[in-house]
Amino acid sequence: MALGLLKGLGVTWKTMWQPAVTVPYPHVKEAPPTRARGVIALKEENCTVCMLCARQCPDWCIYIEGYKDKAPPRREGGKPRTVQKLDRFDIDYSLCMYCGICVEVCPFDALFWSPEYEYSEVKIADLLHDKTKLGEWMETVPEPPPLEAGAEARKGAKK
Ligand code: SF4
Ligand code: SF4
Repeated sequence: MALGLLKGLGVTWKTMWQPAVTVPYPHVKEAPPTRARGVIALKEENCTVCMLCARQCPDWCIYIEGYKDKAPPRREGGKPRTVQKLDRFDIDYSLCMYCGICVEVCPFDALFWSPEYEYSEVKIADLLHDKTKLGEWMETVPEPPPLEAGAEARKGAKK
């Protein structure tokens, strides 16, 4: 036991003289890695209200409501189309566990990770971000890495 104690003290002694590996946040801020999971951003115009993200979310913290709307025909002389529009899209960050499933499963590139992490709140209810706020996070989404030589961009895939 005494040997273990001495060993532990030895580690403490050695570590004491090494430079700190932490920074005094918020006075000093470290830049997170580009693809860090900070907050989820919504590109509303890409969302088709398919509900896949809400159904796959293990925490049930995505709330979506939509409505049907008329859209012009795709080609001249065609029938007017019915499209789904978003009424409500909220993510409750007090429940989210940042697993990324929603971003992965979205088939329409409507959800993106942003490395932004400074959105703590005094009131827990304020951690519910609505579609306006989720849309504003798009500004902080980094550009995707360049495609490999010869690869073609997926239609509609963009930040
Ligand atoms: S990151 Fe995971 S827990 Fe958070 S909203 Fe998406 S699916 Fe739900
Ligand atoms: S964000 Fe993606 S997965 Fe979720 S409802 Fe919209 S289109 Fe569907």
